[in-house]
Amino acid sequence: MATSKRDYYEILGVPRSASVDDVKKAYRKLAMQYHPDRNPNSKAAEEKFKEINEAYEVLSNEEKRARYDRFGHAGVGTSAASDGGNPFAGRGNMDDIFSAFSDIFGSQFGEGFGETSGRRRSRQRGVPGSDLKIRLKLTLEEIANGVDKTLKIKKQKTCEVCNGTGSKNSSYDTCPTCNGTGEVRQVSRTMFGQFVNITTCPTCNGEGRIVKDKCTACHGEGRVQGEATIKVSIPAGVMEGNYIPLRGQGNAGLRGGPPGDLLVVIEEEEHPYFTREEDNIVYHLNINFADAVLGAKATVPTLEGSTTIEIPPGSTSGKEIRLPEKGIKHLNSYGRGDQIIRLNIYVPSQVSAADKELLKQLRQSPNLNPSAKHNGRTSPFEKVKDVFGF
Ligand SMILES: [Zn+2]
Ligand SMILES: [Zn+2]
Repeated sequence: MATSKRDYYEILGVPRSASVDDVKKAYRKLAMQYHPDRNPNSKAAEEKFKEINEAYEVLSNEEKRARYDRFGHAGVGTSAASDGGNPFAGRGNMDDIFSAFSDIFGSQFGEGFGETSGRRRSRQRGVPGSDLKIRLKLTLEEIANGVDKTLKIKKQKTCEVCNGTGSKNSSYDTCPTCNGTGEVRQVSRTMFGQFVNITTCPTCNGEGRIVKDKCTACHGEGRVQGEATIKVSIPAGVMEGNYIPLRGQGNAGLRGGPPGDLLVVIEEEEHPYFTREEDNIVYHLNINFADAVLGAKATVPTLEGSTTIEIPPGSTSGKEIRLPEKGIKHLNSYGRGDQIIRLNIYVPSQVSAADKELLKQLRQSPNLNPSAKHNGRTSPFEKVKDVFGF
């Protein structure tokens, strides 16, 4: 069904004498206007967009343009018959059109442009799959250095019997609701006038066609409930509530639509004895009064084995001892946090008779008794300095 093609100059709205720059300018303006990203689910806009691109491809190329000027459409090998009667025959070159387009417009649409258009393009067939969310509990040890995990998830997968088409034999009927256009028009009258609202056809989800003989394995959906094993690398330093998006690992689309994403949401498992403060890990160590006064050695756990620390004489409750680089790796920079050992002077609630006697003697020692100047606004550190004469 060869229909006559519109004149390329007419399509871009430029005179035959137009310069390359004029052609570019005209194309840019029209392409922005009819780009599918700005006209979601509009077949008309898409057709127009393709037409504009075809015209631009010829008129922006000196050699092609010269041939077109002499021989018309025949001169550049773009006779209308090449598209045939199948409105989807041109799908294949949409990719090229988009890539050419984003080359020219890259800066205007930003980085994400190619990606969104990619999603929209495939939306012509089927319906995108939904995103999935999965919670992943990690220990502090796993978070500290990063970890590779294998997840088993339930999700909708592409039906292997029909390859996701939903059709038993690849035969389709034109959608009776929208007559193949993929969209329905609703005219509404309001006090401001009449509005035409164009929406995606609910019968065919914008595909313009419906499956004739449904695949029995998936009941025409093109996807089935299943299970998937997914490997994910968790970087070191993630935090509770962070999520890792795995593109295309979500639910399969309906009848070949693009898959959704899988979001892995991080949960921090409570550690038996460490708490996390940013990328530092904190360990509370109780010491006895004598060790606090005289100093001592103590063995403490770290994320990797245990280590011996030195408690300096005159340590007060709340004093911190740092083990540099023994914490959690930073997520977005080099290096790692510290382990902080927070001291607490342990006060027993019960003591033996012999202990009692010793303590009673100690109580008499003038050095153990803070004077009035140690109280009030002075810091605990200064108090200690005074008491022990450091
Ligand atoms: Zn199937
Ligand atoms: Zn329809």
